[in-house]
Amino acid sequence: MKIIIHRGAGETGGNCIELVSGRSRILLDYGAPPYSPQGEQQQTTLNIPGLYDDKAADPILAILVSHTHADHYGALLARPVNPRIKVFMSEIMEDVIRITAKMPSEPQKLTADIHYFRKGHKFIVGGFVITPFLMDHTAAESFAFLIEAGRKKVIYTGDYREHGIKAAAFKQLLAAKPGPIDALITEGTQAGIEKGPAEPEIMAHIEANLKGRDGPLFVMCAGQDIGLLTSLTQLAKNTRRFLVVDGYAALLLERLKHLAEKQGVELKAPSLETEFLRIVRNKATQRIFQLSEYMETFRRMRPRMYGWDWIRDNLDRLIIPVRANAQHWVGEEIKDFTKATLIYSDWETYSEEEGMDETLQWFRARGMAEVPTPSSHHAYFSTIRKLVENKKPRYIIPINTAHQDKFTQTFGKRAKILNNGEEFTLD
Ligand SMILES: [Zn+2]
Repeated sequence: MKIIIHRGAGETGGNCIELVSGRSRILLDYGAPPYSPQGEQQQTTLNIPGLYDDKAADPILAILVSHTHADHYGALLARPVNPRIKVFMSEIMEDVIRITAKMPSEPQKLTADIHYFRKGHKFIVGGFVITPFLMDHTAAESFAFLIEAGRKKVIYTGDYREHGIKAAAFKQLLAAKPGPIDALITEGTQAGIEKGPAEPEIMAHIEANLKGRDGPLFVMCAGQDIGLLTSLTQLAKNTRRFLVVDGYAALLLERLKHLAEKQGVELKAPSLETEFLRIVRNKATQRIFQLSEYMETFRRMRPRMYGWDWIRDNLDRLIIPVRANAQHWVGEEIKDFTKATLIYSDWETYSEEEGMDETLQWFRARGMAEVPTPSSHHAYFSTIRKLVENKKPRYIIPINTAHQDKFTQTFGKRAKILNNGEEFTLD
């Protein structure tokens, strides 16, 4: 089997990895590239034979999408890929991508031959046998893949951690016994941090810092961070506040709940039944109203919707998750931030949702009290080490990391550092 990281090797985001076995080729993820420090976007699409044409001798059979952060699927929206390529994701992921793509003022469209996978259910693409494993991460749903072909076995982790709301998923991956692994392709976004706090500890830290403060809380929270929304629901309950989301977050939560129920899974995430959940009538909510296919869900949201007068009258009792571009609607309607507190992660670059950094700068400039927290979105190095010790791969191939030397120092020659575009053949 041959492994080529087309993008994402020593950088966060833009993931695209090619696996070749015999005449079968597949891609793992096809993400939008990160913004440069100067704020310039790199070219979104990649020039890979067969991706947009039929000129390759051996066609690309499939693209497997690990999760619904734009840095892992965004390039699919930039230009339709060759219609012969099957694009695999879970049913929830397709919903999340389609809804998210409709939110900008210039909506995008997912045009691809979508096929669903389910956790633990093997599927076959050409010479590859693929098993998806659910992972703990901040997207609505995230997967790792075990990929077997021609007596070789590779695990691609996607993004993951072991200390969030789906910690059990990581334990299940450890418990799986797939046999000898040739290569582990693991993300290393936070590999520079040996060990950090788990999500519940972070929430306890936030709650302790809120004692004696009775103003509104603005919390940096990407739209799909269901784990954080779930934690904030608990915080709202504990501090007798209302959790105020917009129509986009409310719709995602409802779709997730619906699809989880279909699969017999009960979610801890907030929903329209959550007593202290409120939906603000802002632009995003209006946008959801325009999506005719979600009319029925919108009708159920109505009793939970409140206008700005209610928001201003009850401001001191609100928790408002803030995602990219929130400054536009908050800034128009709320002028007084004197009693407010801003909760954000000071380890975070917020690379997974475009525009989050500008949003954070805007809120910080309002001069409110701040409670910085550690970032907990990705695996700490202790988690990566645990996975390596458990699966004992012959090679460890880091991606999405500026800490490649940490892998070399820890795993010696087993760490195979690849540059973008470099081919590596498993012997
Ligand atoms: Zn991610």
